[in-house]
Amino acid sequence: MRLILLGPPGSGKGTQAAAVKGRYGIPHISTGDMLREAVAAGTPLGMKVKDIMASGGLVPDEIVGEVVAERLSRPDARKGFLLDGFPRTIHQAEILGAALSARREALDAVVKVNLSDEEVVRRLSGRRTCSACGAPCHAVFSPPRAAGVCDSCGGALKQRDDDKEDVIRNRLSVYHRQTAPLAEWYSKRGLLREVDGGGLVEEVQRRVFAALEAKGPSA
Ligand code: AMP
Repeated sequence: MRLILLGPPGSGKGTQAAAVKGRYGIPHISTGDMLREAVAAGTPLGMKVKDIMASGGLVPDEIVGEVVAERLSRPDARKGFLLDGFPRTIHQAEILGAALSARREALDAVVKVNLSDEEVVRRLSGRRTCSACGAPCHAVFSPPRAAGVCDSCGGALKQRDDDKEDVIRNRLSVYHRQTAPLAEWYSKRGLLREVDGGGLVEEVQRRVFAALEAKGPSA
């Protein structure tokens, strides 16, 4: 299966991607994760994109296009993949389309997870990750026993720079302007399946699987 997960930041794409990866045995390719790793490792790519990411803006299409092309060329992506956070612009969708055509491959589906802006802000502004073990938690929905301290290992809980409210609002406006038009783009190609991203993780997961297993597009 060759899939794309679309949706605003904070709609739970990363969580759903992990479930889809487990069910279909395809690699989860997250451009956000790859770029964050490059920033953390201080590579030339990381240095180029660090400030853009911290402000919530988009990294230039050609740079992300190269990162994805390299990742898709690895052996584990030959039989399928799940893209999360890419494409984010129509131009990126064109870059992806050209790369897949060159390999005589095509997408099977694009699943769009819908969530309101207010719910996105509520979810993302409370998101925390342990700086030691990486365990996630949420300041409101799953608060740690002691404020700022990881329940699993006692490490310090951190907030992503781009999860501060003003940056979240910027990421949302970038999403509506640049990424949301992709829904129509893929709908015209008969690939779009839309699911409601509200409610419990397991409920959204059931909707995502149902959308993937449905015969045709839902939109
Ligand atoms: P994410 O984890 O998907 O929310 O991505 C975090 C940040 O990485 C975004 O706000 C962008 O700055 C950058 N980024 C991730 N994927 C892309 C992409 N496909 N195009 C441009 N920038 C991206």
